[in-house]
Amino acid sequence: MNSLIKRIKYFFNAIFGQQLKKRKMINLILFGPPGSGKGTQAEMLVEKYNLLHISTGDLFRYEIGNKTPLGVEAKSYMDKGELVPDSVTIRMLENKVNANSEVGGFIFDGFPRTIKQSEALDAFLKEKGTSVTGLLSLKVDDDELVSRLLERGKTSGRKDDSNEEIIRNRIAVYNNETAPVYNYYNEQGLSAYINGVGTKDEIFASLSEAIDCYS
Ligand code: ADP
Repeated sequence: MNSLIKRIKYFFNAIFGQQLKKRKMINLILFGPPGSGKGTQAEMLVEKYNLLHISTGDLFRYEIGNKTPLGVEAKSYMDKGELVPDSVTIRMLENKVNANSEVGGFIFDGFPRTIKQSEALDAFLKEKGTSVTGLLSLKVDDDELVSRLLERGKTSGRKDDSNEEIIRNRIAVYNNETAPVYNYYNEQGLSAYINGVGTKDEIFASLSEAIDCYS
């Protein structure tokens, strides 16, 4: 009898424990213009919340480093500060998520950058029985962004960080094609702004406070 109860408990946990885990999954979109500090904050957040950081920019740079066909294609857009086509980007993102299905959630950094990417992400997560938890957008004004990126360009070796014209183009692309993603998720009640100016720790504290509201 005792062992029967044990077995029932075991199956109950196996089934409902899984569902509980799924519900708790955090899928955060860390949003904001180039140079707003998404990468820096993502690195700090992954440690605290045990998430996988997926930066589409980093994934492209990895492909470029390995001179793959995807890297060669992506480079032609990135060097000009243009967006890599949606179909290529979405496929790459989905492959990365699928290869890491065991993690407790994701920080999406630099993705989605268009409405089409947002719709693809929503459909993809829905198929997996999960969804976007929230979008947190780091707010920094344009002149501060330009000076941060030019500063980063001195050491990053990134061609797109070393030329003010390309930087301004990236900010314009952000305003035209990417900023609407904020409203897309805001309509679902999921978007919020976070002040992106201050010390790393101050910004981290604001982001953490917002994330803690989700759970
Ligand atoms: P930043 O946020 O500083 O612009 P990223 O590393 O996120 O840096 O992106 C660098 C470049 O990589 C972008 O300008 C763009 O060309 C390309 N890229 C990154 N993510 C995407 C995306 N989701 N869709 C299209 N292009 C992307």
